[in-house]
Amino acid sequence: MCDDIKENTFEDNEERYKNLVQVLPELVFIHDDKRIFYCNQSAANMTGVQDTKELLDTSILEMVPSKMQYSFRNFIMKSLEEDIEPTYFQTKFMDKNGEIKYVEIITTKYNFQGYPALLSVVRDITHVRKINDLEKDIEQSKRLLDDALEYDKMKTEYFATISHELRTPLNVILAAIQLLKLESDQENKYMKMMQQNCFRLLRLVNNIIDMTRIEANYFDIKVQSFDIIKLIKSTVLSVSEYTNKKGINLFFNTNVEEKMILCDPDQMERIILNLLSNSIKFTQRGGNIWVSVYDYGKKINIIVKDDGIGIPQDKQEYIFNRFHQVDKSFTRKHEGSGLGLFLVKALVEKHKGEIIVRSELGKGSEFIIEIPCDTFLETENIPYFPNEYSNYYYNGEKIPIELSDIY
Ligand code: ADP
Repeated sequence: MCDDIKENTFEDNEERYKNLVQVLPELVFIHDDKRIFYCNQSAANMTGVQDTKELLDTSILEMVPSKMQYSFRNFIMKSLEEDIEPTYFQTKFMDKNGEIKYVEIITTKYNFQGYPALLSVVRDITHVRKINDLEKDIEQSKRLLDDALEYDKMKTEYFATISHELRTPLNVILAAIQLLKLESDQENKYMKMMQQNCFRLLRLVNNIIDMTRIEANYFDIKVQSFDIIKLIKSTVLSVSEYTNKKGINLFFNTNVEEKMILCDPDQMERIILNLLSNSIKFTQRGGNIWVSVYDYGKKINIIVKDDGIGIPQDKQEYIFNRFHQVDKSFTRKHEGSGLGLFLVKALVEKHKGEIIVRSELGKGSEFIIEIPCDTFLETENIPYFPNEYSNYYYNGEKIPIELSDIY
């Protein structure tokens, strides 16, 4: 009686194990190097056969891509011959769609009805391999990015050095031109041409140096309490000679006569001159440019607007990026290096302000700057001593190098 119960329980258990093995998500095989003696439903599912019986008497080697069969066979033979257990092996299996899966096989020796065989459990580790591959890709991308950043840093440093090197001979040429001008009584058009082109080069060199300083976070503005209305008005007036020459109407408008704010006057002037030089560049004869300053108490708005060629909608978000030009062709009509607006934005942000553009192709562009003034001292008026060595002064004489693209 007691033995009967034991026997039944043993059979029941064996049946349950078999059922469990059938539904395991892992592929289970009993096999040697030539034949499969048993496999579960997952093995049939992977290979695309209906019945596990269809796989019996085929070789497990057939499931492995031909290139990997040699090493897999060696593994099977070694597992059959040696007494090591259990053994692990990684290879690839081909599924019913011909898709390659990475698999890990755990194999142990198994006596199948008197035959020396192997019991192998095959686990699909494609997702793990994919994660590993992705991790490797990320690591490699990180390394490439680090290399690129290092290379970019080296390039930027080289840019800065070469720009300084360029500035020295340029200043020597400019000094020589100045002396020649002093010696000759009449206006020499070739000398003027040389000087103007030196200014253009100087502007480019200065802009490159400042761009590298800004990118390296080395650029500081020198703020002082200054009448921003007076500054902008005189800057606008200083370009009237050029707008007149180009037949463009220039207007200035403000809602206050005076507004003291803390700002860097040199850099403020540079912001306005850059925007004005663009407006002059991109506005046809007969067009208009409006410069307005509005005091709103805690902030001021400076607006430079033109009815020139305008900027396509899809290009507007890029124009503040360095080197970005809407027309990049070699045949483009307008001069420029694509650094002006990058510097303008950086300088506005140094003043804790913001700049936006509104533009419509063929209708014109409007650059709106908002500068906060609430945190600024409004009473103190420190006298303004222009820096003789700044970008705008050469031998004590103020030179309009920001406009050198449009002479
Ligand atoms: P650039 O020195 O080439 O003028 P900027 O950074 O000053 O460089 O300007 C970038 C680009 O933005 C210009 O090349 C031009 O395509 C466009 N742009 C800037 N201002 C205007 C404007 N007022 N009207 C039309 N396009 C403009």
